Amino acid sequence: YYDQNTVLYLNGEYLKAAEAKTDLYGQSLHYGYAVFEGIRAYKTIKGEVKIFKAQEHFDRFKRSCELIHMPYPFNNDELIAACYKVLELNKMEEAYIRPLAFCPPNMTLKAALETEILICAWDWAAYLGEKQLRVMTSSYQRPNPKAFAIESKTSGLYVNSILASQEAKEKGYDEALLLDINGYVAEGPGANVFFEKDGKIITPPTGNILPGITRATVIELCHELNIPLEEKLSTIEELRAADSAFFCGTAAELIGWESLDGQPFTKPWADSLGKYLQKAYKARVLEAEFKEVYKPAEVV
Ligand code: PMP
Repeated sequence: YYDQNTVLYLNGEYLKAAEAKTDLYGQSLHYGYAVFEGIRAYKTIKGEVKIFKAQEHFDRFKRSCELIHMPYPFNNDELIAACYKVLELNKMEEAYIRPLAFCPPNMTLKAALETEILICAWDWAAYLGEKQLRVMTSSYQRPNPKAFAIESKTSGLYVNSILASQEAKEKGYDEALLLDINGYVAEGPGANVFFEKDGKIITPPTGNILPGITRATVIELCHELNIPLEEKLSTIEELRAADSAFFCGTAAELIGWESLDGQPFTKPWADSLGKYLQKAYKARVLEAEFKEVYKPAEVV
């Protein structure tokens, strides 16, 4: 991800990773009380480096901090400028950008009085790869929304994601799907879920999931491309009976599923609405025109 000469942004300064220091007596390290974002920069077809939906990511960053009572003394336009500067100083064009808000030393369980900020970036290929995924239903649920501010991208919440993806890997799958506390389909450890049924795209509503920015983009694309879309709670049986399914997230982008719990989906990914949306998404982040018309495969 980095070497000692990689430049990062820490509390207003641009420093080499080797020079950057933090305190080991902080609530963030000890209690997971920190907030992060995951953002991508792309080189557009015009050759410009553009951070995709930077404003939306930093709006969520702010909201995430507020939800867990971390002060937010930052100006988002300045933080976005700092992201571009980090890219420039590292001579990066297409990169993954990671802002992290964390707390100065404090061992209590009281809300933070001050917040520090780190922005770093690294080259990251599509997080879940390019090959369709063999997904398993996790034995872990997503955290209880009544026990946690689950719409906050809080670091400590990601232990749930680590447990679920580790379980999936140990069982020989590529990725996990987690259900919410009521047993409805929720999301992946680091991505939202969509599926296709009879020409319609379905995704869980917000409430028990992270409101993904890629999810919002996919919904926008469905509206623009006249693809019927429904946000609704679904059971795992409904998902198993889907024609096709995919995960989406900033790091993963759009990635199709091959199977769920060992049962393959009936529609080949290449013919699915998900594949069509994947192409539209790629065009969107590259600021390219997307003129392709969806042609369903002929039913034989
Ligand atoms: N759900 C979870 C749990 C995530 O960690 C992520 C990645 N941030 C997503 C969904 C997708 O969000 P986004 O599209 O904003 O990256």
